[in-house]
Amino acid sequence: MKIFQMPDSLANKIAAGEVVERPASVVKELVENSIDAGSTWIKIDVMEAGLEEIKITDDGEGMAEEDVERAFLRHATSKIRSESDLFHVNTLGFRGEALASIASVSRLTIKTSQGEAAGTFLSLEGGIVKERGKADARKGTEITISDLFYNTPARLKYMKTIHTELGHITDLLNRLALSHPEIRFEATHKGKTLFKTPGTGDMLQVIAQIYGMGVARKMLPIEQETLDFKISGYIAKPEITRASRSYISIILNGRYIKSIPLTQAIIRGYHTLLPIGRSPIVVIQIEMDPILVDVNVHPTKLEARFSKDKELFILVEQLIQNTFRQTRLIPEIEQKQKPVERPKTSFQPTLDFDRGAFVAKETMSFSTKQQNVKNYDSDTKVDNSGSREIVQTEDNNNDEIAVDLFEQLDVQPISTGIVDSLATEQRVPTMYPIGQLHGTYILAQNENGFYMIDQHAAQERIKYEFFKKKLGQTSNEVQELLIPMTFEFSRQESIFIEHYKDELVQVGLLFENFGNQSYIIRSYPNWFPKGFEEEIIREMIEQIMQDERINVESIREEAAILMSCKRSIKANHYLNNDDMFRLLEDLRKTTDPFTCPHGRPIIVHFTTYELEKMFKRVM
Ligand code: ADP
Ligand code: MG
Repeated sequence: MKIFQMPDSLANKIAAGEVVERPASVVKELVENSIDAGSTWIKIDVMEAGLEEIKITDDGEGMAEEDVERAFLRHATSKIRSESDLFHVNTLGFRGEALASIASVSRLTIKTSQGEAAGTFLSLEGGIVKERGKADARKGTEITISDLFYNTPARLKYMKTIHTELGHITDLLNRLALSHPEIRFEATHKGKTLFKTPGTGDMLQVIAQIYGMGVARKMLPIEQETLDFKISGYIAKPEITRASRSYISIILNGRYIKSIPLTQAIIRGYHTLLPIGRSPIVVIQIEMDPILVDVNVHPTKLEARFSKDKELFILVEQLIQNTFRQTRLIPEIEQKQKPVERPKTSFQPTLDFDRGAFVAKETMSFSTKQQNVKNYDSDTKVDNSGSREIVQTEDNNNDEIAVDLFEQLDVQPISTGIVDSLATEQRVPTMYPIGQLHGTYILAQNENGFYMIDQHAAQERIKYEFFKKKLGQTSNEVQELLIPMTFEFSRQESIFIEHYKDELVQVGLLFENFGNQSYIIRSYPNWFPKGFEEEIIREMIEQIMQDERINVESIREEAAILMSCKRSIKANHYLNNDDMFRLLEDLRKTTDPFTCPHGRPIIVHFTTYELEKMFKRVM
């Protein structure tokens, strides 16, 4: 005989491999259990990012003595009983695996009581019960996990640094807190508060706790109800964006889920309002009949399948679109020529929870004089009369187009051409414009055939190479600021800032903390492009969180893309022949005239031969 059924302890350990990937997964499972137990208050205390200890305390329904030990058996659950229950799951858990799995890879103690009589105490080691006893009668449950993965050294080896693991925990707790604004969450790491939510049921208060008051103030509420769906939540005005999509939270029937198509629908809702490559901050709550949802797609239940999904995607997209149509968006970002003067004194990013209302302590005193504000949009407006108003130039100097575009940005173009390499110019011989299609594409010809050029992408490429060169030439000197800039970061971001403080100083950024997640910056590197300082700084922090190192080169690259994209002529802009010719000439001189910095094509080329073939002039 070769086949044996595994002992439970081994099966549990294997299951743990799926469910318990890292400390954050333990926190997720335990907090979800607390939520399922109807808790109104959940406290999470971790030591060494959960590798040393994770303690979750709740005030939920607790367990009866007879149930406690059973809860640690594989496939033991109080949440479903029959197959049909699987189609009506309205709890976060239902697989009955978490406690068994977690217990199998740690030392665990539990105290639980239903509040009527004395509670129950149980301690386990690697899933084996070591001690049984009584506990106090406080209604609720307290579970302590220590020495996670002590008996699975291979898994332990894969743990990243403390701050990465802690980052995962905070990220997860953020989502859980956003999913349940009615629950009071308290989280600490090594005794220091990570965050607290008031548990009033107001999602905006949770958003303020997690992303800061600055963000909360720029969120717009959304709400819509159809026969099948109830959608609510908050979407950030497009003026605040982030580089990664991790600031989009989707909550389906109280469960935080990941859904690429739904995320895409949200981004489509923003449509052209977002700069290319940027993501919005969104918390969206969707409620639908559980019968339409299949949450049993993945052991961690992070993914879900649901019927009528296409309908939902369109609904979400349109809801966001309509919200912006109804709101007059004043794009403050465009007016940030100079770093805006920041509050001088007391800045209290706190909320007045006592009054139960969302009251921002408005002690900020921004100076509102807008120094030399230029409205770039007006330079590129569609002119219905058909006349052109972009880049007026008297003479036909080829560099003029660049100069005109760049003077808005307060930088001077270097030398004459963009790249003085003959070789590249030969790749694309001079193209002569024939006309423009839909105010968006330039049609051109030369001896090699016919070309269609995306004018916006072309200009992005030209400017991108200009800025890249410009940024590459600058040194690491710093610029002292007369008026310091202030920033508010999320909890997670500030964890990384604290950790990388020294490295940030080395690249010219000194973050001075002034309470919670607020920071002052008194100087920044000279190479920071004017008007983009805040974005570049935020970009840096996001990059650190992603890559866990500071890569100045890639930040410079990012900065160049950002700048080239922001101020390029948009589609639907009419150009005259000279404008078109100069744009095409500048494009030819770039090192890569074929794709824009985001990788999209700029030129579509039909060779003369291809054209002749199309019309069957040749075979
Ligand atoms: P599941 O959540 O899928 O049912 P778990 O292994 O996570 O499986 O938990 C097993 C059972 O233990 C749950 O069904 C629930 O009855 C009980 N339980 C777990 N945590 C708590 C808690 N914090 N409060 C009350 N009961 C709990
Ligand atoms: Mg569970």
